[in-house]
Formats: sequence, C-alpha cells, structure tokens
Amino acid sequence: MLIERIWAANSLRNFQYLIACTQSGEAIVIDPLDARQCLDRARERGFTITQILNTHEHDDHTAGNAGVVAATGAKVLAHAGAASAIGGVDRGLSRGDVIRVGKTVELEALDTPGHTRAHVCLLAHGDAPALFCGDTLFNAGAGNCHNGGDPGLLYETFVNQLARLPEGTRVFPGHEYRARNLAFTLDREPGNAEAAKAMASARAQEAAAARVTTMGEEKRVNAFLRLQNPEIVAGLRQRFPEIGEKPDARTVFVKLRELRNSW
Ligand SMILES: [Zn+2]
Ligand SMILES: [Zn+2]
Repeated sequence: MLIERIWAANSLRNFQYLIACTQSGEAIVIDPLDARQCLDRARERGFTITQILNTHEHDDHTAGNAGVVAATGAKVLAHAGAASAIGGVDRGLSRGDVIRVGKTVELEALDTPGHTRAHVCLLAHGDAPALFCGDTLFNAGAGNCHNGGDPGLLYETFVNQLARLPEGTRVFPGHEYRARNLAFTLDREPGNAEAAKAMASARAQEAAAARVTTMGEEKRVNAFLRLQNPEIVAGLRQRFPEIGEKPDARTVFVKLRELRNSW
C-alpha cells in the first residue's frame, strides 16, 4: 500500500491523501479539497484514481469531488448518513464495510461519529496498520463538535474504537494542527516531557513535512487519550469545580473539549 499525503496549503491546514495499490497503481483519494493538486500528484506518481472517499460532509473534505470525478470518472464513497449532504455519492458506507483498491489494498470503514454524526475513518490492517481519521482524531488533539457534532459521541468513538487500535497504527488526520494541540496538552500537563519534545520537533518542521505519528505516541501526548491522568483531572477541576473529586472519563473528555473550544 502506497500513501501520498497532499498538503493543501490553505488556512484550514487540510491534508488530502492518495492510497494506491503497489501492483495495479489504482488509487483512492481521501478528502479531496483541491482537485488539481490531487490529480497532479496522482499523475506524477503514475496512479489511476478510481475512487474518492469523503470522511464526512464538510466542504473542506468534499470540494474537490466534482473536479476529480470529471477528470477520472471515479466513484464517490461516504458514510451512508452523509450521502445526501454531499451529493453524487455512489456507495454509502456502514460500519465494517470493506473498500478494495486495486489488488492489494483493503480498507475497513469505521463508523466514527462525534465531529459530525455521519463520519467514517478508514483502517488499513496488516503489518503497517494505518488510520485515516478525517476530523475525528488529530495529532495531539480531537476534532471540534461545532458543526453537527456531539462531544459525547466523540468520546465513545475515542474510547471504544480509536484507543483500542494497535499501538503501531499510523495516524493520518484531515488537518495539521499539531503544534497548537501540543500547546494545549502542555498547558494541561506541563510535566509531559514527550509532549515538550514533540513540540520542539513540530516547531522545527514545515506543516507539509509533519512527521506521521502512531496511536502509541498519541496516547502519550494527546490529552483526549489521557483521561485518567491526575494532572489533567486536577487542572480541569480548578476550572470546572462541578465535576467533583472523581469525574468519570466521559466527563473529563467532554470538559476537555469544552475548554479547548475557547482555549
Ligand atoms: Zn470537518
Ligand atoms: Zn476539516
């Protein structure tokens, strides 16, 4: 499986992806925003785009659909619940559906609500597992719930699905917000040495060259995956005394998300 990350160089800091079969060169494009960028990269690499996958219905993840379809005739795939909002969807996805690309790539659709109510992540299994997580999980952060989402659902997605993936799973999010998110983690947990180290490297890297992280690393630097951490809980209690002495993980997650909204 070949993965090409395409930096959109826009103010929202989007990442688009091509995933291609090593044998046939057939490719799926994930969350095309700028069709021209995606088509150019596919041509440079010798890939043939046959499918488009939108992780969810927001414009910054779908705006390139029409241009890619016009140029390639690719089929559009999205969560069945987002199909009417996106328009032109050929295949509505449900949990557990498998997307095949060429001869060698198999991607499992995960039903991952929270950022919106109809959001899919794609999971590649195998020796080098990879998660394409749209606006659900970001490097060192979590998607917001402002536009059709629900923080309680996002919590369920994190705890019941994402946190259970193998530690080595590579994380390919829909946006590059790493430094800002690490700053949030360090504000919660000033003593998190790994987050401080990651921050130094994030500041030294261009967004287009941002290092790919793993789930194992995310669990060490992402506050939204560290809900039992005493320092995080104590800091939240100062801000939200109503959560009490021993808030449950769901409350910690929802309050972290609330804090991050205005942070
Ligand atoms: Zn979004
Ligand atoms: Zn987005």
